Amino acid sequence: MSNPDFSDFARSLAQLEHKGRLRSIPILQHRGGHIEKDGRIMLNMSSNDYLGLAADQQLRDEFLAIYDRNPPPFTSSSSRLLTGTFPHYQALEELIATRFQRQSCLLFNSGYHANIGILPALADKQTLIVADKLVHASIIDGIRLSACDFLRYRHNDYEHLQQLIEKHHQAFKRIIVVTESLFSMDGDICDLPRLTALKRRYGNIMLYVDEAHAIGAYGETGLGLAQQLGCIEEIDILVGTFGKALASMGAYAVCDRLLRDYLINFMRPLIYSTALPPFNIAWTYFLFERLPQFSRRRHHLHELSAYLRKGLSTLPGCTMPSRSYIVPYILGDDPLTLQTAAQLQQQGYYCLPIRPPTVPQGTSRIRFSLSADMSFAETEKLVRILHETHSSLPHNND
Ligand SMILES: *Cc1c(COP(=O)(O)O)cnc(C)c1O
Repeated sequence: MSNPDFSDFARSLAQLEHKGRLRSIPILQHRGGHIEKDGRIMLNMSSNDYLGLAADQQLRDEFLAIYDRNPPPFTSSSSRLLTGTFPHYQALEELIATRFQRQSCLLFNSGYHANIGILPALADKQTLIVADKLVHASIIDGIRLSACDFLRYRHNDYEHLQQLIEKHHQAFKRIIVVTESLFSMDGDICDLPRLTALKRRYGNIMLYVDEAHAIGAYGETGLGLAQQLGCIEEIDILVGTFGKALASMGAYAVCDRLLRDYLINFMRPLIYSTALPPFNIAWTYFLFERLPQFSRRRHHLHELSAYLRKGLSTLPGCTMPSRSYIVPYILGDDPLTLQTAAQLQQQGYYCLPIRPPTVPQGTSRIRFSLSADMSFAETEKLVRILHETHSSLPHNND
């Protein structure tokens, strides 16, 4: 027997490399809010640690001190529907449901699990999913796994969404409208009140909102844009993740009790996957409980963001879609973006180029993510450097 022929895989990789699009896992080390790579220490401007909790030694020490030598288990050893459920799970679900003032909460292993599991569980042949054009890959995969029709509306274009609903709402038992609250490539936000108003006009619309990038960093007590915009109770499935601002791992949905019961019975990634370790759930609880106390971090984060956005939008020819701490520097041209990212890294800012197919053709960019543990001085220096590098770019000498 000869070995199977895998040369097609090798050819695909070679093609990617030729186009400069070969992905790989970088070799790097973490130094608090900095990254060390190839002997250089750089400010990490590419993480999702928006509140700066991930590297906070004091929080970590406080958490570990609670348990001393007897921490919660490091594994759940099975799915929650068998024996993998622990009081830590119930406590966190109750905490979250109470904070959101909703009937119930259900935890998942990750945002990816949530998005590939909830939609297929809820959608059947008489359901239509209508999703924003720019929703996250995990939502796209959830839609693909659903046994139903789906349509996309132009990004944040609610006129378009309404046209689609008007055209189709009578032909379906239910329409599930799916969006993110804060979009991760442009840093722009969804008009949630507009969506809830739309929902009220029709009798059969379910709202599914993913707050992965917004939970923790928006709202009076950190419950996200739905809280800030006063929409929590009208969102049928409000999803958030713990791996970004909440410096942990996992995800949740807040919803009515009936929907929770339904998901427990029909959601495959929940039923057939080992639950997260109770140790991890206890850490999430520890941070979620403190969320209201982080308002100074939120305030600082938003001030830094406004400063960076303003600094970038005054660069000649720069468009600034962002309204948040995710701030794109859109250069358009691929090689120019790569070169500028390399230059910024040399100056001590670990930021990464994002190119098609992750973003539309002609909108290659450097994506800055800010964190509450960054200082004004660091942000000011970055803006200064950006102004220097931008004025030396070829397109500005045209
Ligand atoms: C990051 C992200 C996810 C995935 O969450 P994980 O917990 O990292 O799997 C899902 N949805 C959106 C919008 C995200 O940004």
